[in-house]
Amino acid sequence: MSAERYEMVVGLEVHVHLKTRTKIFCRCSTSFGDAPNANTCPVCLALPGALPVLNDHAVELATRAALALECTVYERSIFARKNYFYPDLPKGYQISQFDRPLAERGRVVLPDGRAITITRIHMEEDAGKSVHDRYAGFTAIDLNRSGVPLVEIVSEPEIRGSAEAGAYLRALREVLLFADVSDCSMEEGSLRVDANVSARLHGDRAFRTRTEIKNLNSFSNVERALEVEFARHCAVHDAGGAIVQQTMLFDAGRGTVRPARSKEESHDYRYFPDPDLPPLVLEPAYIAAHRASLPEFPSARRARYQRDFGITAADADVLTASRAVGDYFEHTVAAAGDGKAAANWVTGEVLAALNETGATIERFAVSAARLGALIALVREGVVSGTAAKTVLDTMHHDAADPRAIAARDGLLQVGDDTQLRAWIDEVWAEHPDEGARFLGGEARLQGVLVGFVMKKSNRSADPKKVNQLLAERGK
Ligand code: ADP
Ligand code: MG
Ligand code: ZN
Repeated sequence: MSAERYEMVVGLEVHVHLKTRTKIFCRCSTSFGDAPNANTCPVCLALPGALPVLNDHAVELATRAALALECTVYERSIFARKNYFYPDLPKGYQISQFDRPLAERGRVVLPDGRAITITRIHMEEDAGKSVHDRYAGFTAIDLNRSGVPLVEIVSEPEIRGSAEAGAYLRALREVLLFADVSDCSMEEGSLRVDANVSARLHGDRAFRTRTEIKNLNSFSNVERALEVEFARHCAVHDAGGAIVQQTMLFDAGRGTVRPARSKEESHDYRYFPDPDLPPLVLEPAYIAAHRASLPEFPSARRARYQRDFGITAADADVLTASRAVGDYFEHTVAAAGDGKAAANWVTGEVLAALNETGATIERFAVSAARLGALIALVREGVVSGTAAKTVLDTMHHDAADPRAIAARDGLLQVGDDTQLRAWIDEVWAEHPDEGARFLGGEARLQGVLVGFVMKKSNRSADPKKVNQLLAERGK
């Protein structure tokens, strides 16, 4: 294979639905999965004379997305008509932004620290959907999606390789989810990717002709399609041929890439400013307020957790996998007064329980405050780590205070010397042989004897104290 001689060059165009309740230029619902054409009106059906009115919330979310991706947000941008014919685009044009987009020059930071430049972010409306599998021999049109607000996020061709494309998409999605601007659900089409790819010899500076693979519906399909298309580019270059700039479609079932039937590469959209919409003007104070209200992003959170709580990078990764898990963890730390212990409980018991029940952390029955209180009990020696797990199991369906549960269920740790000595005496009487050997110098029997005491005490004895008392007796 000659592919090793070549370097893969990728630039991604990502379309993301903004999670507004209503559409970008009318008040129809954006909800997904409703009966076809239920959520339509004269504006999004493109009836003659209907006028678009811009949805403030869409502007807000687009602004937050751009700021979260560290873009420069412009105080003035322009909505333009992008003219093309498509059955699911009844207006004959899409309202988008062209030469004056909302924002430019941002970045997405990959886990290895490399940053990929974002060229631009612009706002636009989504088109409807052509449904090919509802009526045999016919295509149906569903306009529920027509007018759903989108941002298009365009990267520079700085991505090298399919794995890096995947890393870029995951990092981008993480930021958008944290900023709370989109569900980023590829299944529901709220995050869609067009991948541009070309191949050049390692060491070359100039880019070669690219092709664009449209409508990729999963991150793994993006990676697969890029590999297949890249291999084709390499083979064409090796054979002395020329790549034609065109739009391609990926067949996920066959794992093949083929040219799209439509000849969309004559990019003559005849953009012009939409006369129905004034320029979008954002006050500096508006932009500043949104910048100030952004949450802390995962990479910053990860670093802070490791620094402030002394937890491992692996635990920090798990705890920042979603904003909600991180928030829960932080509330737990606040109540427990111990970051490391809180990290162990959340990454261990809590996530295991969520896995088992399929619940989300937002719906988790045990609040962070109550978990924190339980962890504090362990720290104070009031309950043992083992007993605390039993208490937590009960807390799932019992709203009582953790200390009250432990007391009621006999799970308080016993640290009282008199009681502990009494149990040790009983163990001595029941296991005279082990007792004698321990006294005779077989130190390893201490663990066995502690085990007997734990069992006798129904696991309520404080094992640290039992060890101390046994060690004293052994002297
Ligand atoms: P268009 O408007 O025709 O889609 P753009 O300039 O917006 O063209 O580029 C679209 C995408 O293609 C961008 O993400 C960009 O990074 C990527 N791109 C441009 N040139 C190349 C190339 N030679 N190889 C790979 N990707 C490229
Ligand atoms: Mg483009
Ligand atoms: Zn509408």
